Parts: sequence; structure tokens; C-alpha cells
Amino acid sequence: MHLVGAGPGDPELLTLKALRLLREADVIVHDHLVAEAILALIPATTRRVFVGKKGGGFCCPQHRIEETLVELARQGLNVVRLKGGDPFIFGRGGEELEALAAAGIPCSVVPGVTSAFGAAAEAGIPLTHRRLASGVVFLTGHEEPGKAESAVPWEEYARMGATLCVYMGMKNLEPITRRLLAGGLSAETPAAVVQAATTPGQRVWTSSLGRIAREAEEGGFTAPAIVIIGEVVGLAELLSSRAAAELALP
Ligand code: SAH
Repeated sequence: MHLVGAGPGDPELLTLKALRLLREADVIVHDHLVAEAILALIPATTRRVFVGKKGGGFCCPQHRIEETLVELARQGLNVVRLKGGDPFIFGRGGEELEALAAAGIPCSVVPGVTSAFGAAAEAGIPLTHRRLASGVVFLTGHEEPGKAESAVPWEEYARMGATLCVYMGMKNLEPITRRLLAGGLSAETPAAVVQAATTPGQRVWTSSLGRIAREAEEGGFTAPAIVIIGEVVGLAELLSSRAAAELALP
């Protein structure tokens, strides 16, 4: 059993190891975040098990995915669990490994290019910078439904002097930016949204913390997208002017 990161979309961002394992697998278990161009690399004869679709369609509960992995491995098959980006960044890869360990099934992990790295590279944003950002933080903008209080202390992250990369943040972008402003970040702090990074559908928008939520909504930005906030985003100027011309916001 191998837990493999597929990267953000561009098949050339797969690792050589991921590609080899895809070619050797008996069965590949994947979800909607794995790009079509990557699925196209799977040999036609390899069995595929699809475990989730976006947009309120069929969505396999997490425990079912874990049971499926255990069942397939117990059949003696060479199983690849393929996940978008890196399996350990907001991919629930940790939970799947726990389930496999509990069932006594050994599993190797192959890291992937996480989508924040794909987004930053495409937008021309160095996530750390000697003068501008002493660190980088990966945050989730999606809270467990039903959670009364947000578990992410946004105000504290606002004070860290780090670049903030927000995954799954599109639905909550307005309250997220409001809390970062409340934490002391300036409304002029540069911010960018990168949708479908490294895929043919990629869109980039750069703006400021004060405006990004409204502009992303007006521009029709939707998941999957990464929001990057911090002074380093100001270095993406050249690319953002091209993105602005493409998007032509009213
Ligand atoms: N394990 C994945 C993240 C899974 S959580 C990784 O390392 O990238 C799902 C979120 O990832 C999406 O809501 C979005 O925020 C982000 N994402 C995944 N693919 C993306 C892409 N191609 N472009 C931008 N964001 C992406």
C-alpha cells in the first residue's frame, strides 16, 4: 500500500516515484482533486476506485474510504491511494494511515507538491523572503460543520510576520479576512487567490487583504483555490497585472 501525493494538477509535477507507483499498481483509489491529466497516466488496464466527487454529488464517507483501502490491501493487491497535492497537508492522509496501521497494513508515503507551492510558483510569489516573511503557515479555511467557535486563531496568525496560505478558504474568505484585519494586519497587505493552480483552468488574482474577498466573489473565484496573504505577495506584481487584464473585472 502506498499513499501517494499527485501534486496540484500539472502531471510534470508528479515525482518520479509517484509515476512509477502509478504504473505498477493493481488498483488506484482516488478522488476528484486528482487532475484528469494525471489520471490519464494510469495504464488503461489498471483498476480505479473513485471515492468522492465535488459539488454535492457522490461523496464517500471517510470511514468507507478507509475500509476500502483495508479490504483491497487484504486481497493482496498492490494499492495506491492517490491524493491531490501532498497527502499530509489537509488531505486526511494521516487518518488513512492510522486506519491502515490499526489493521496491520504497512504503507509507504510519497510526498507531493502541495497546492500552495503550485499556486505560489505560478503567481510568482516567494513564500519566504529574507526581508518580507520569516515563515510560512498552511491554514484551513474550512471548519468542521457544526463547530461553534472557529478553531483557527486567525488574529494570532495575523501577528506572526509569516506568509499565510489558506486552503479551502473560498466560502469563508470574508470572515477570515475580517479576523486577520482585527488581528492587526493592514488592509493594504498584499493578498492573492489562485484557482486551479497548474491546471489549464488556472486563474490568478492579486489584490489586498481589504479587497480580496469582495473581488474574488465578483470575479467568480471558486474552489479549488489557495489564498496567499503577506508582504511577499507584493512581489507578484508583473503577473498580477497580466491576470487583471485576463479577468477584466468591471
Ligand atoms: N492535500 C492537498 C490539499 C487538500 S484540501 C494539497 O496538498 O494541496 C483541498 C484544498 O486544496 C482545496 O480546497 C484548495 O484550497 C486546495 N487545492 C487543491 N488543489 C488545488 C489547485 N490545483 N489549485 C489551488 N488550490 C488547490
